[in-house]
Amino acid sequence: MVRDITKDPIFLSQPSKPATEADRPVARDLLDTLAAHRDRCAGMAANMIGELKRIIVFEGEDGDPVLMYNPEILKKSEPYRAAEGCLSLQGLRQGERWKTIKVRFQDGAFKTRIKTYTGFTAQVIQHEIDHCNGVLI
Ligand SMILES: [Zn+2]
Repeated sequence: MVRDITKDPIFLSQPSKPATEADRPVARDLLDTLAAHRDRCAGMAANMIGELKRIIVFEGEDGDPVLMYNPEILKKSEPYRAAEGCLSLQGLRQGERWKTIKVRFQDGAFKTRIKTYTGFTAQVIQHEIDHCNGVLI
């Protein structure tokens, strides 16, 4: 189900709680909502649809949507400054990002995985993990 996008900065500044298997319906709604905004949005975190759970979705390198529960950055390298937009915020904002990140997460089947990402996909993941931590760019 496509849900409304939350734009309340106070709500979005709260850190999200760990996700469990009971949160699968939230993940499904998040994927539906990302698909509905795909023309102007490369990723979303669950708090953007009003759920304070550590779940993110984004467009993967092959163009298919990727779902992560409880993503965590284990390692990062090569910092740079990036200008980013966000469906929940007005305009572009500057922030520090890392070119390469190693992420541990649980996939759609709740299997723990570790994967390395670079470039734009890595940037989107960092933006969405910031949302999970209540950080707004
Ligand atoms: Zn955002």
